[in-house]
Amino acid sequence: VYILAVETSCDETSVAIVRDGKDILANVVSSQIETHQRFGGVVPEVASRKHVESITWIIEEALDKANVKPAELAAVAVTQGPGLVGSLLVGMVAAKALACSLELPLIGVHHIAGHIYANQLVNELKYPFVALVVSGGHTELVFVEAEGRFRIIGQTRDDAVGEAYDKVARALKLPYPGGPHIDRLAHEAREAVTLPRAWLEPDSYDFSFSGLKSAVLAALNQAAMKGQPLAPEAVAKGFQDSVIDVLVEKALRAVRAYGAKQLILAGGVAANKGLRAELEARCAEAGIPLLAPPLSLCTDNAAMIAAAAFLKYRRGQFAPFDMKAEPLLKLEAWSV
Ligand code: ATP
Ligand code: MG
Ligand code: FE
Repeated sequence: VYILAVETSCDETSVAIVRDGKDILANVVSSQIETHQRFGGVVPEVASRKHVESITWIIEEALDKANVKPAELAAVAVTQGPGLVGSLLVGMVAAKALACSLELPLIGVHHIAGHIYANQLVNELKYPFVALVVSGGHTELVFVEAEGRFRIIGQTRDDAVGEAYDKVARALKLPYPGGPHIDRLAHEAREAVTLPRAWLEPDSYDFSFSGLKSAVLAALNQAAMKGQPLAPEAVAKGFQDSVIDVLVEKALRAVRAYGAKQLILAGGVAANKGLRAELEARCAEAGIPLLAPPLSLCTDNAAMIAAAAFLKYRRGQFAPFDMKAEPLLKLEAWSV
């Protein structure tokens, strides 16, 4: 079964063709990073226009690369939400046009379900598992009891991790997106600025990163006023150590409390080398199997959308042709 999937929730235009929710035949990703870089972040209106310019040729390129004829497709999938409404709409219209003209069923996919099921493209999933979702807009611990059944057991009360990374990077005058730059600086650092950790209530699986971000800004300002500016490497390491400490601790506690068979890492920040290394070490020590996608499948791509779409395909859960883009779509509501 070949599914063609379209992902345009933010600033990546991507089209993939995946067999049986597992084998990637094509996964074309066109990033708009260079366009948005000079604004220091994604400009929604610009993002939608760029999607419009590239979506048609990316669909053609994906079919070309996969060497699959449109007539061989079984369904068309598309990210329904969450994301930027203007961006989502472009993918939605393209997917509907394709499904309509080829007389194929349409499948709406939750973007975060996609990030989680990116792991299905490279590994065998065992249920129940706990997923640590860390991305530009989300920071969540999700208990997945059975295939496609999601329960959010903890989430950020303010900033998402990726958002905190990008804001701290901005304060350090690093280019957008800042995550990879902070990751690199943290590795080069020999010392770390001491920064707080937000544990919240002892039994809580929630997160908070805005206090940490404010602490970074305050430390930078105070040091600058004293005429002794902080080394960016030490700030990056202090920030990253604090983030990783809390993420790893809570994820491992959730795995134990919920009797999970695996811990699954997902989302753009899953590309973070420091986070991966610490999770690998701590999971190995605790005997917990850890799954993480390769870097190219951590950030936004359509192959992960096709992987999640396959869950709905198998159950015949197709979307009506008046399906709407949902900027605030809830993960639990998307469960199969
Ligand atoms: P969401 O998935 O929540 O809708 P998004 O799709 O914009 O948000 P992703 O593409 O999943 O987010 O991830 C992008 C985020 O990942 C950015 O904030 C970026 O800084 C961060 N990121 C990418 N690589 C790294 C890294 N090596 N270390 C830390 N953060 C990183
Ligand atoms: Mg992006
Ligand atoms: Fe994403």
